[in-house]
Amino acid sequence: TMRGDEEYDYLFKLVMIGDTGVGKTNILSRFTKDEFCLESKSTIGVEFSTCAFHIEEQIIKAQIWDTAGQERYRAITSAYYRGAHGAILVYDVTRPASFANISRWLKELREHVDSNTVLILIGNKIDLHNLRNVDSEEAQRFAKKEGLAYIETSALDSTNVEKAFDIIFAEIYRVVS
Ligand code: GDP
Repeated sequence: TMRGDEEYDYLFKLVMIGDTGVGKTNILSRFTKDEFCLESKSTIGVEFSTCAFHIEEQIIKAQIWDTAGQERYRAITSAYYRGAHGAILVYDVTRPASFANISRWLKELREHVDSNTVLILIGNKIDLHNLRNVDSEEAQRFAKKEGLAYIETSALDSTNVEKAFDIIFAEIYRVVS
C-alpha cells in the first residue's frame, strides 16, 4: 500500500532534560544520525528531531525535543513539557552534582506531565572510566525508587544509545497502544 510522508499511526513526543553539559545534545545526535530523522527548530526556540520507524507494523513518528541550552537559565517553559509521552533524564557519571540534580528535574517534570508519562534515567559518559564518580548501584536504586527505567550510555562511543531509545519507545508504545 502507498502511504504519504505525513501519515503515521502514533506520534510520540519526548523531551530531554538534565543539567547543562551532561551530554543531552550528543546523545540525541548520536541516535538521530543513525536513524531516519529530520531536524527542526520550533517557534519557542527549542530544537527537536523527528524520526519515523515501525513498532509491530505501526508507523511511529517520534518528536524528540532538546533544550538548546535553556536549562542553564532554568528557563524551560511549560510548552517544552506539554503533552510529552516520554522524558529522558540525563546525568553525567563523572559529575555527582548532575546526579543530585535529577531530583529537581524530576520534581519540575512531574509538575508538568501526567503520571503515565514514561521516564528513563540515563547515566552518560561511561567511556570516562577513570573519572566515574557516581556509583551504578546507587543510581539504579534511585531509579527503582522513583519508577524510572535506568541505563548507562556513552554518546562518545555509542554504547547503549540506541538501546536507551528502544526501551523508552517500546514502553511508550505499551502505554498508548
Ligand atoms: P548538553 O549540554 O547536555 O546538551 O551536553 P552536550 O551534548 O553539549 O555535551 C557536553 C560536553 O560533553 C561536550 O563537550 C561533549 O562532547 C561531551 N560529551 C557528551 N557526551 C559524552 C560522552 O558520552 N562521553 C564523553 N567523554 N564526552 C561526552
